[in-house]
Amino acid sequence: MRHVSDWSLPDGSVLLNFSDNVRGVFERNVQSGDLPESGGVLLGTVHERGLLVTVATTPTRLDRQLRYLFERLPFGHRAVAKRLWRSTGGTTRYIGEWHTHPQDIPTPSAIDLEEWRKLAKARADKRPLLAVIVGRHSLHVELTHGNGRRQLLRPY
Ligand SMILES: [Zn+2]
Repeated sequence: MRHVSDWSLPDGSVLLNFSDNVRGVFERNVQSGDLPESGGVLLGTVHERGLLVTVATTPTRLDRQLRYLFERLPFGHRAVAKRLWRSTGGTTRYIGEWHTHPQDIPTPSAIDLEEWRKLAKARADKRPLLAVIVGRHSLHVELTHGNGRRQLLRPY
């Protein structure tokens, strides 16, 4: 698979792992050719120093019909998140968001940054939002805080 599984903050304070399952979802949705933009929510488990991302939801039918607006229609994805959170006794929880860009090395747009900040601010647990963009060659991975602070993660 082309995308790196292990990421960290430069100071090593946060380690992040994308499961094979999650990287498979990214891989299948890489925007090459005329594949539309795609995305969903990221779920996983939170540990003292790390995040294990174990589930990436994929676009629902509603998203596909309105594919350019999917970031504003996260209802189906929230339902999946809620169900998993319940069925795992609260260990698998919402961690963040992912979407694709038709760029080799993806960079967030101004709209992406604004959306992420809003989502981070809305989090009840006050944790930063994990924001991922899936490019054709690499991933953009960052933690966005409700106050607008951003922390870029690097391949580990
Ligand atoms: Zn974007």
